Amino acid sequence: MTTPTDSTPPKPTRLAPIVTLDAKFFWDAADQGEFVGERCAECRQFRFPPRPMCPHCHSVKREVVKLSGRGTVYTWIQPRHPTPFGFKEPPIVATIELEEGYRLVSNLYDIPLEQVQPGLPVEVFFAPTMGNHQVPVFRPRAK
Ligand SMILES: [Zn+2]
Repeated sequence: MTTPTDSTPPKPTRLAPIVTLDAKFFWDAADQGEFVGERCAECRQFRFPPRPMCPHCHSVKREVVKLSGRGTVYTWIQPRHPTPFGFKEPPIVATIELEEGYRLVSNLYDIPLEQVQPGLPVEVFFAPTMGNHQVPVFRPRAK
């Protein structure tokens, strides 16, 4: 027999993302479990971080597209002291090179620090935050 406390996951301690106007689409999608990016509607190049004008052709037209969620580890670090606020254990902070051709900083899970390698194939999943939000994070890709 289970009691309500048996099935209640612990409350997230990770801080909620700071949402800016330019990146609101990204965080709104993350709350829905979608991993999206912003692309120029004229030249089709991705804009990251999101911004009002394309740095390649100066168009202000944009489109939000679903990303594959796949990438590779470019580089990583584990900040040990002080442990970042909101984390029980120091997270692995990694720069992920996305299949779509740009890099973003996130966290890496489900792998010991010693086993992280440059070029490690990874996939996105979502970690809960305070305030009932979630953020995209990565783990080694299932083979
Ligand atoms: Zn453009």
